[in-house]
Amino acid sequence: MQNKIIPYSLIFILIIPLFGFKFLVGLLGNILLLIVLVPLLILILGFLGLNFFKSSINLCESCGSTIIGNNVNCPYCGCKTIKNIQEDDDLSSDASNKIIEVKAEEIN
Ligand SMILES: [Zn+2]
Repeated sequence: MQNKIIPYSLIFILIIPLFGFKFLVGLLGNILLLIVLVPLLILILGFLGLNFFKSSINLCESCGSTIIGNNVNCPYCGCKTIKNIQEDDDLSSDASNKIIEVKAEEIN
């Protein structure tokens, strides 16, 4: 333990007069920022990967099996009724394409 403190203290003694205390604080801040940002970046990449993976998953409408890839026919039943899973998602589809039925009623 004593052997490890001496090189670190030497580094600190050398860095502080050469680059100043601000540099050291900035360096430590950058390292902390990196530690925080790297998991965030991994999370974003994971989310994008999941979205990409989700777009390649298709659902057969006749037998209900999930098909991964860009198949035209269902490999299980041979039907051409393959539907993308993402098209089912209400959040990804355009709201202006939705049809809302409104019944008009007369108030007596
Ligand atoms: Zn099928």
